Amino acid sequence: MTAQVLDSFYEGKAKVLYNTSDPQLIVQYFKDDATAFNRQKFGQIVGKGPMNLRITVAIFKLLEQHGVPTHLVQALDDRRLLTRRVEIVPLEVVVRNRVAGTFAKRYALPEGMHLKEPIVELFYKKDELNDPLITAQAATALGWTTAAEVARIEAYALQVNKVLCDFLLIRGIELIDFKLEFGRAADGTLLLADEISPDSCRFWEVGTGKKLDKDRFRQDLGGVEEAYAEMVKRIVG
Ligand code: UDP
Repeated sequence: MTAQVLDSFYEGKAKVLYNTSDPQLIVQYFKDDATAFNRQKFGQIVGKGPMNLRITVAIFKLLEQHGVPTHLVQALDDRRLLTRRVEIVPLEVVVRNRVAGTFAKRYALPEGMHLKEPIVELFYKKDELNDPLITAQAATALGWTTAAEVARIEAYALQVNKVLCDFLLIRGIELIDFKLEFGRAADGTLLLADEISPDSCRFWEVGTGKKLDKDRFRQDLGGVEEAYAEMVKRIVG
């Protein structure tokens, strides 16, 4: 890379973002810090940063091959990812194949119940409000997105789901649900951003139902690092 890494401009729960000498590019540093329940629970998952980076790079490359544009440029080392600078759309886009997490709680449904078809849910990305559920209509009326953009976001989300479900199933993993974030590049292109990792997905082992994701941390199930390492092995090989 020719761009120089400059100062940090944002620190989130799992990553620190740095400016570079190229205004169109930023560097994302993947930390080992883990939080859950909107920071009520926090800790470290040893080696998480490099594991999530490897998984994200492999998945984003796969998605690019299937026509989903992403912010990925290249990994610089085991914790630092060079990406295109985007303005994040303030929506967390969740796709669900089976009932789990807040969806199970909201409707008092048993975890693991199958859905007849995948669903896409939108949440307003606002920690102070606990990321409340929002309709596409409300997000559009508030000027946070447009009807056309939200339609593209939902179509990309379902496409990501299809590609990932197929990819993971042959590796013995069922994709239960996951969260995506999208951003707009300087030229207006909509790009898949953030990460796709065991922090942002629920992965269950086919056959045993063993959880291989952040639920091991959220629910104190133990074997957290081992679960992340297992997902690296299955996805990156
Ligand atoms: N998720 C995430 N970040 C969030 C909320 C959810 O990455 O701030 C992911 C989560 O890991 C799961 C999916 O989105 O794979 C659906 O999460 P849910 O709404 O059930 O909430 P959770 O139980 O994670 O609080």
